[in-house]
Amino acid sequence: MATMTEIATIKTLTTHYIDGAFVESHGRQVMDVVKPTNGQVIARVTLGDEEDTRRAIAAAKRAFASFSRTTKEERARYLRQLQKAVSARIDDLTAVMVEEYGGVAGFARLLVESGVNAFAAAEKALQELPLRENWGKTTVTLEPVGVAGLITAWNANALFICLKLASAVAAGCTVVIKPSEMSSLQTRAMVEALNAAGLPSGVYNVVTGLGSTVGAELVRNPDVAKISFTGSVAVGEGIMRDGAATMKRVTLELGGKSPTVLLDDAVLDQAIPAALTMAFLNSGQACAAGTRLLVPKSRLDEVKRAIRDAMPAFTVGDPADPKIAVGPMVSQKQYERVESYIRKGIEEGAEVLVGGEGHPKGLEAGYFVKPTVFVNVKNDMTIAQEEIFGPVLSVIAYDSEDEAIRIANDSKYGLHAAVMGTDLQRARRVASQLRAGRVVINNMTDDPDAPWGGFKYSGVGREYGKYGIEAFLEPKAILE
Ligand code: NAD
Repeated sequence: MATMTEIATIKTLTTHYIDGAFVESHGRQVMDVVKPTNGQVIARVTLGDEEDTRRAIAAAKRAFASFSRTTKEERARYLRQLQKAVSARIDDLTAVMVEEYGGVAGFARLLVESGVNAFAAAEKALQELPLRENWGKTTVTLEPVGVAGLITAWNANALFICLKLASAVAAGCTVVIKPSEMSSLQTRAMVEALNAAGLPSGVYNVVTGLGSTVGAELVRNPDVAKISFTGSVAVGEGIMRDGAATMKRVTLELGGKSPTVLLDDAVLDQAIPAALTMAFLNSGQACAAGTRLLVPKSRLDEVKRAIRDAMPAFTVGDPADPKIAVGPMVSQKQYERVESYIRKGIEEGAEVLVGGEGHPKGLEAGYFVKPTVFVNVKNDMTIAQEEIFGPVLSVIAYDSEDEAIRIANDSKYGLHAAVMGTDLQRARRVASQLRAGRVVINNMTDDPDAPWGGFKYSGVGREYGKYGIEAFLEPKAILE
């Protein structure tokens, strides 16, 4: 229960952003926002409903009539305005991500900066993308697909909103954004930032609410042509199925169980810290987290030693402290989910090398778990097959390069993968055989022009660069 002083400091949010203005919610349901470091209520949010969503869709539809006819130069100018507006708020956006979500400060800043950079990257990609081609008596134009619903997960709110919005604006689409209800404070800060960009009313609208109300209305509404979704496989499947009734175009960015393939010539004092960084990325709450480490049997003992040596750098604690590498889980539910997987790993016969069940000592008040590394893991164990979405790494031993590739690909997912080794030719050869939308060699790195998205259950379609813009475009041919 909140004390009187806490009640005085609890923020209340009651508006959505529709047609260029903050408007009171029609939906009346109120949700508590809980701080993951101590479980205290820090805000109360009024959630939108179907009526709020329909108003937002109507505003986006009105704006589409003129926005869809803007030139490349006009869209490029809007993207520059958006970038300037959001970059002015990097500190606030980082601070609210740390507070509401428990993201560790350094990584939260990186995610926000990636969001800011998404506008510049989209502008560059737009300039390079031919929107009109001619041959003979044929003209092909790439037309904006229509009003798009952008539905996002809670684990990188600022990045998802900026990335999807940047691609949609570059394509000439207008949008209704439905961020995760668990990112309400972050969304409010982002919308205030976007509002300063001065885009025409209705180009982007933001309704905070539940997936089952706001999200479902976007998916079934015939005035929405496209859904760009980031979230779980279960919800992604539902969006594809329910969206079929109105022939929705869909981009689905879903989960992962990413392998890191350590080749036998890897330099362990570099490779192991890099592998642990990928495993514990965003406190393990990252779709791309490298949660399966594939190790040659001949080097298993060395790897175990190197992991124990590297672990002290992955300290758990207050995410606002710059020395901290792993913060809390976002919610009690997420804490329990991660704990249940750690229990399951032990029950199925995997061995805890570091970490294990329960809160780290002294961090009992928040949703903190112990960063955990399992060894003696078989790839068919639950902890090696299912996405845990917490800082839990499974070490799996292999005999040969072929076996490593087979194990890496023996997953329903195919989002991200890593290969580590000294012989680059060999690392490239292995990378080329991994069934994943993105493979990094020797370290996690990024390129805003490169596509992002998954094979298999990790999704449908791609984001970033020209691939992300094309996802909001329809080719149209005129033949004389
Ligand atoms: P989630 O699927 O529970 O929710 C995602 C969004 O969908 C939220 O905004 C939610 O309100 C909404 N939603 C829920 N039910 C809906 C419905 N019936 N119709 C429409 N919308 C609905 O996922 P989450 O827990 O927020 O995020 C974690 C998941 O997201 C993990 O699986 C993770 O791997 C994935 N993810 C993927 C990427 C990627 O780029 N591939 C990035 C980040 C997270």
